Amino acid sequence: MKIGLRGGHSPYCKGAMGILDEQAEVRKIYTELKPMLEAKGHAVIDCNSNANNVNAELAEGTNKANANNCDVYYTLHMNASKDGSGNGVECWMYDASNEDMNQIADQICKNFKSKGYYNRGKKFNAGYHDLRESAMPAMIIETMFCDNAGDAGRYGSLTAKGIAQLIAEGIDKKAVSGATDVSKPRPENSIVPGAGGLKELGKVDIYSAGFTDRWWPEVKNATDWVGAGDGLPLRYLGFRVTKGSIKVRVYTEASGWLPYIIFGQSYNTNDLDNGVVGDGSPIQAIEMEYLTPAGYKYKYVKYCVSDINNTSFYPTQVDNQRGGGQDGYAGVIGVAADKLIAEIV
Ligand SMILES: [Zn+2]
Repeated sequence: MKIGLRGGHSPYCKGAMGILDEQAEVRKIYTELKPMLEAKGHAVIDCNSNANNVNAELAEGTNKANANNCDVYYTLHMNASKDGSGNGVECWMYDASNEDMNQIADQICKNFKSKGYYNRGKKFNAGYHDLRESAMPAMIIETMFCDNAGDAGRYGSLTAKGIAQLIAEGIDKKAVSGATDVSKPRPENSIVPGAGGLKELGKVDIYSAGFTDRWWPEVKNATDWVGAGDGLPLRYLGFRVTKGSIKVRVYTEASGWLPYIIFGQSYNTNDLDNGVVGDGSPIQAIEMEYLTPAGYKYKYVKYCVSDINNTSFYPTQVDNQRGGGQDGYAGVIGVAADKLIAEIV
């Protein structure tokens, strides 16, 4: 099998920073994994990028996989939850249609679980560049949370080589040996609604701020909409929540989907790169996911937008859920959004 393989991000355009530096560590995992896959008889195409911006490094990866006619494309990442409460492994695919890929994703997650990582399981998203722009079946392996002490500790003892082994065996649909389930995982955002033993989080307020040609006063929950509201596109957005955190990304006219930013109890309008979402061009779509603190019953964000051509709002989106009339984000790609409403329920 010809495998396109890539450690996420670039040394000149870093990924998540926690206890571990995501980009630096996944590149180490890549370096260990490549010869392991080759020893199993696979050809491995180096799809890494050293580009200096997100669009360029993402495009370089999928372009290399596509140009080499790879049979499958894997990218290695580490997650982050900002407050350090998220943990575990998850594998993202475009959709659930490829049975082989489903089995590989399950096996990789099980192999991580056998070493104490929480198994967050398979997830699907048709919007992620790696999954959308690859001409072959693709998988984003979010190996662990780089800002979680437990995950980082397990990484420290397993090392990049140990992690690479879990993935290499998973790709061949093989379990790893010496499995011991040692951890007491904290399922941060995979909590089953109403599951026993989970506490009620209580009311969570979200405050949203929007920039059109100026910053507008922040709006609490769904008491009002964010923005100027009269045909002026939203260009930047900032959010803060009173508990937990919220993961947000926007699709802009200039750049398409921008990287996720996780907001806790603050945003920063003085830091247009990392303190808010947006790039200054009109925002067309927004994806939001509420990250419930560990040990509490799952809550989610309900949000909707209106576009510059209409006064009415599109249907409400819940987190990044798909199906049932939801497409995983609010807004319409190709049309600027001018109003947003969000609340945590
Ligand atoms: Zn990443």
